[in-house]
Amino acid sequence: MSLPLDELYRDVILDHYKQPRNRGELEPHTVRVEGTNPLCGDEIQIDVRTTADGKLDDIAFKGRGCSISQASASMMTEAVKDLSTDEVGELIGTFKAMMHGQPVDTEPLGDLEALEGVQKFPVRIKCALLAWTTLEQALREAAAAS
Ligand code: ZN
Repeated sequence: MSLPLDELYRDVILDHYKQPRNRGELEPHTVRVEGTNPLCGDEIQIDVRTTADGKLDDIAFKGRGCSISQASASMMTEAVKDLSTDEVGELIGTFKAMMHGQPVDTEPLGDLEALEGVQKFPVRIKCALLAWTTLEQALREAAAAS
């Protein structure tokens, strides 16, 4: 029942790891939040800019760590940009459910479905979730700041 580890590293994951989208910092930003995954040494910083009417106007990330953590962050920024913060919250819930092996409609996740195989490697699930839990915190702080 074990898959070879290299099945984790499908083309789409490697592509995002090597050429991360929305990498950098946002000026100005509504909030900046950092997250770490000590189990693997992954680090992430996420800047978000939200609008008064509750849209995630822009997002950028910086970080270092394993390919799963960084590719997940890159794919996430593409998936959530321009969504309402409510929609982002739903997407976070969908992604977390997928990573925990729950049956979900993966269609809204697009390329992120490539990370589904990571759930078979429990130690790597936190790598895939790092960007998402960090974004969740960013949205909470942004809501509190507005
Ligand atoms: Zn990792």
